[in-house]
Amino acid sequence: KAKRLSGPKVVYFDQSVKEEQKYRFNLEQNIKKALDKDEFIAVYQPIICVKTGALFGFEALARWDHPERGLLTPNEFIPPMEEYGIISDLTASIIKQVTRQLSVWQSSHPDLYISFNLSALDIQQPKFLKVLDSQVEACNLDAKNLTLEITESLLLSDWQKAGPMLDALSESGFSLALDDFGTGYSSLSYLYRINADKLKIDRSFIQYWSETGDARLLNTIVKLGHLMHMQVIAEGIEQQEELDFLGRIGCDQYQGFLSARPMLAEQVVKAGWLTKH
Ligand code: C2E
Ligand code: MG
Ligand code: MG
Ligand code: MG
Repeated sequence: KAKRLSGPKVVYFDQSVKEEQKYRFNLEQNIKKALDKDEFIAVYQPIICVKTGALFGFEALARWDHPERGLLTPNEFIPPMEEYGIISDLTASIIKQVTRQLSVWQSSHPDLYISFNLSALDIQQPKFLKVLDSQVEACNLDAKNLTLEITESLLLSDWQKAGPMLDALSESGFSLALDDFGTGYSSLSYLYRINADKLKIDRSFIQYWSETGDARLLNTIVKLGHLMHMQVIAEGIEQQEELDFLGRIGCDQYQGFLSARPMLAEQVVKAGWLTKH
């Protein structure tokens, strides 16, 4: 207790709290301004058939195209956006970009799908389905070519609201993917409570196999997904031997740096993803 009263430490503490508050206040204002200026953009990572290498679709991932700091990744802005209650503004912007992009790319690739990530707050908003539906209609798309990625933590937050919304989305024809499957705290019962048709295996499971050679868990997840009539998608594939292994256990689709990093839409085209595939 005596220590707490001794000068310098207390002053230092006060200052750092102030700095922190100032930083956070500025961050909130900066993020809101950036939303107004449309500085949040989608980058696209190819999702590929394990067996044939054919292109199935893309995952849209948000980036902050910051005027001074360049392209920032979601860990810098998504948690604060959720805290400030403004994450749905990001989602709306990503939905706009994704639907427009898909309508362009579908003229040459009619079966292509784009998936994007949702937050808990998105599906707690009753108007979410309307916003999405109207955008899909405006771009003349089929809902089945859009996949909504949901995580276990999202479901944990408010099942009373999330459950009916997910049912409605599925009934409207959207595809649902369970993202980062198995990394959260939820129970397996979500597998039959939600009408998801895709199961995404988190990179941590791939890494575990790479480090230990222990294939039991990955094998089980793929079998589980197939028994539930889901397409199984592995993320974070960086090495050829990981891809070979996915083929042996029958995993359907993958994404990862081995094939491509997330790219701007124009880079996707330049790199030939829509012509060579
Ligand atoms: P996620 O949905 O599980 O996305 C996969 C993450 O793995 C992405 O990170 C992607 O860039 C990264 N990744 C892909 N292949 C590889 C690989 O081979 N090696 C490694 N090391 N990483 C790989 P990113 O873009 O930083 O996104 C992180 C998380 O942020 C996403 O995880 C998702 O949960 C969230 N997120 C991204 N965009 C949005 C968005 O628009 N809205 C919401 N609510 N969340 C988003
Ligand atoms: Mg995802
Ligand atoms: Mg994921
Ligand atoms: Mg992940």
